[in-house]
Amino acid sequence: MTLPAQAQIVVIGGGIIGCSTAYHLARDHKADVLLLEQGKITSGSTWHAAGLVGQLRSSASITRVLKYSVELYKGLAAETGLDTGWKMTGCLRLATNPDRWTEFRRLATTAKSFGMEMHLISPEEVRQMWPLMDVSDLVGASWLPTDGQASPSDITQSLAKGARMHGARIAEGVKVTGFVMAGNRITHVETDQGRIACDKVVNCGGMWARQLGAMAGVAVPLHPVKHQYIITERIDGLAPDAPTLRDPDRRTYFKEEVGGLVMGGYEPDPQGWVTGDIPENWEFRLFDDDFDHFAQHMEQAIARVPALEKVGVKQMINGAESFTPDGNFILGPAPECANMYVGAGFNAFGIASGGGAGWVLAEWVMKGEAPLDLWAVDIRRFSGLHRDRNWVAERTLEAYGKHYTVAFPHEEYQSGRPRIVSPLYDRLKARRAVFGSKLGWERPNWFAPEGTAAQDIYSMGRQNWFDAVGQEHAHVREKAGLFDQSSFAKYELSGPKAAEALEWICANRVVREVGRLTYTQLLNSRGGIEADLTVARMADDLFYIVTGTGFRTHDFGWIADHLPTDGVSFRDVTEDWGTLSLMGPEARDILARVTPADVSGAALPFGSAREITIAGAPVRALRVTYVGELGWELHTPLDQTGAVFDALMEAGANLRPVGYRALESLRLEKGYRAWSSDITPNDTPFEAGLGWAVKMKGNTPFLGRAALEAVAGRPLTKRFAGFTVDDPAAVLLGRETILRDGQPVGYLTSGGYGYTMGKSIGFGYVRHAEGVSDDWLAAGRYDLVIAGTTTPARLAMRPLYDPEGLRIRA
Ligand SMILES: Cc1cc2nc3c(=O)[nH]c(=O)nc-3n(C[C@H](O)[C@H](O)[C@H](O)COP(=O)(O)OP(=O)(O)OC[C@H]3O[C@@H](n4cnc5c(N)ncnc54)[C@H](O)[C@@H]3O)c2cc1C
Repeated sequence: MTLPAQAQIVVIGGGIIGCSTAYHLARDHKADVLLLEQGKITSGSTWHAAGLVGQLRSSASITRVLKYSVELYKGLAAETGLDTGWKMTGCLRLATNPDRWTEFRRLATTAKSFGMEMHLISPEEVRQMWPLMDVSDLVGASWLPTDGQASPSDITQSLAKGARMHGARIAEGVKVTGFVMAGNRITHVETDQGRIACDKVVNCGGMWARQLGAMAGVAVPLHPVKHQYIITERIDGLAPDAPTLRDPDRRTYFKEEVGGLVMGGYEPDPQGWVTGDIPENWEFRLFDDDFDHFAQHMEQAIARVPALEKVGVKQMINGAESFTPDGNFILGPAPECANMYVGAGFNAFGIASGGGAGWVLAEWVMKGEAPLDLWAVDIRRFSGLHRDRNWVAERTLEAYGKHYTVAFPHEEYQSGRPRIVSPLYDRLKARRAVFGSKLGWERPNWFAPEGTAAQDIYSMGRQNWFDAVGQEHAHVREKAGLFDQSSFAKYELSGPKAAEALEWICANRVVREVGRLTYTQLLNSRGGIEADLTVARMADDLFYIVTGTGFRTHDFGWIADHLPTDGVSFRDVTEDWGTLSLMGPEARDILARVTPADVSGAALPFGSAREITIAGAPVRALRVTYVGELGWELHTPLDQTGAVFDALMEAGANLRPVGYRALESLRLEKGYRAWSSDITPNDTPFEAGLGWAVKMKGNTPFLGRAALEAVAGRPLTKRFAGFTVDDPAAVLLGRETILRDGQPVGYLTSGGYGYTMGKSIGFGYVRHAEGVSDDWLAAGRYDLVIAGTTTPARLAMRPLYDPEGLRIRA
């Protein structure tokens, strides 16, 4: 094919992801698409995939994406005439110990919450379904009847044909060598066969996506890892429709293939490949068989399926696949480049994800907004830290090694730490802080009392920090606590058009008098919540914006994308400022002792943002709280954070440092929503109970207003609600099913323990197509399904703690 001189959208990569994206761009959007593949279609990672297709993930949206894949694979042959090899064999997952069984009970509840069928079955039932298996060590298994398997190459060829049928052009044997940029925008794609002008580029380059991204200044933090499986000769008695099998306690998986078995695994000592570029001519290439490394899987697999001992190995596949530092794939608009989108890093579930990932990525490319909450896979969950190849490699190998380990709640990664520390790190460590890490920052999760181990000891029930966090919680409620929140993302927006720009971007009225701070959501065009943050007006044309640590790149990107091209200057100032949150009934007394400023309620009312000094350091004192107590976020130049901390600690006999786990408990009692779990792009402020923070009165236009106006006054079909559970043994983690009068009506988006209430607390959306009115809510009887057990719960539509907000305004 002769290369065209231009195309609206150039998709790079002819693996399953590129072909699916091209297919959806052409089919759903009639876009002018050109797909470029340096070798042949499927010749990267796709051709050698094992083809297991699972659907359940811990995010409802990602589960929806994977379910979409299955629907697509079922029907694609009817459209294109090319079969995908889809077989709905179902999937068995085996449990051999009580922790794994608890994990499965929780997963089965998640499946129920997400509308997926999943059963827990006995070892005997497993034996009947899979007679070749030794079930003697099993506690039980989970059974997902709608999972299955497919042929990776066939799906991809079918998608490629479908893409062509809808008008996409596919050019094989064309290598992208660079980009012509105008500022941060790609104007042309350079190839070994000429230059192509385009509006947008979609980087579906598999494990090459990192180096392709780098050509446009884009970081795609993935790392290629060697992954092996074997294909055996025929095994007598193996049914052609045998369910796919995952045996996580033995770190292995199985799938029937032409009468034999495909068997592979995830080892704790994975073999990373290059941290530099992928070698040239890596088309349809494999590594040499590595039986030594594979022996650990073989041994476990034989213990599970003894027939394997006597059957020959027909072929070993040792292929490269890209993995990521958190085990999720990478999708969406590259923050560094105005018109490159990425779909890569599929962590050995690219076949399962391919159909759905192509669908949502195509929507994103065409509309500039994700069609649903894709935060778990959003490329903007990373930061500058992820440009460090060695760090990415180290963390990715840890994530790979954990693929099949029991996922304990609250578990932290260990590799590549400490990476970014606040100036208080040593001080807090000396006070026995146990740290977690968020976007590279070390943050105190809790403080271990003297005589106890200063480390997390994970378990499925209450963990070793439970009581210590309870003491921290009580201290904040009764006296005062100091939180090191220096990792908060912070931006400054300035310039003559700053106020006007924020008025458009923010749903709340943030353009108020100088010295005012406002809590606001940023909405997408559907009225969904894209960000949740505070905006402080420090001067007529200077706004200080603070948001959560993990949302740094995302929120910056969202704001930057919606700013005018002139009249504003927008800067990320995260590392310029340390943040100490002084919270609790004694906060004012303590603050008064360290600053000459008037800290009375009249001088510093709730929602004020003032410049004061503490220990000679300039401080932006923001009167706001996430814990439901009187308090301030004190922002001070990073290098003076230590001095401010020391002054506060000295002045407050009753002041103690407090960690993030207590913060979580405190905010649950107060009913404060957390973005990414409680409030997401799938939810409007009305549904979230945040309508009070939206400037619907008056006619000020803002992003999302039209969508909200379209639904204003109509009955809400879902509403954010709180629940408490009296059962002291209940452990709420999120995703538990909400039952109203015995019927599923939603699931928890957050769960935890409220120490002041002495109860477990959960939040989630209650859904009802005919409308969720106050009366309908109040008339119901509620239960939560917690790890498979139906447990009575009480509905709470107001904050459990301080429902009138009197304490925070004191
Ligand atoms: C051994 C093994 C077993 C697996 N088993 C499963 C499984 O059972 N289930 C499952 O869901 N997943 C599985 N996977 C994962 C799956 O194979 C991948 O997630 C998936 O194939 C990734 O598809 P992709 O399109 O992102 O990448 P690729 O298939 O690698 O496609 C990227 C394409 O981009 C092209 N490209 C790169 N650079 C350029 C350039 N400069 N110019 C033009 N073209 C370029 C490459 O040639 C390549 O064809 C397995 C992977 C391995 C290694």
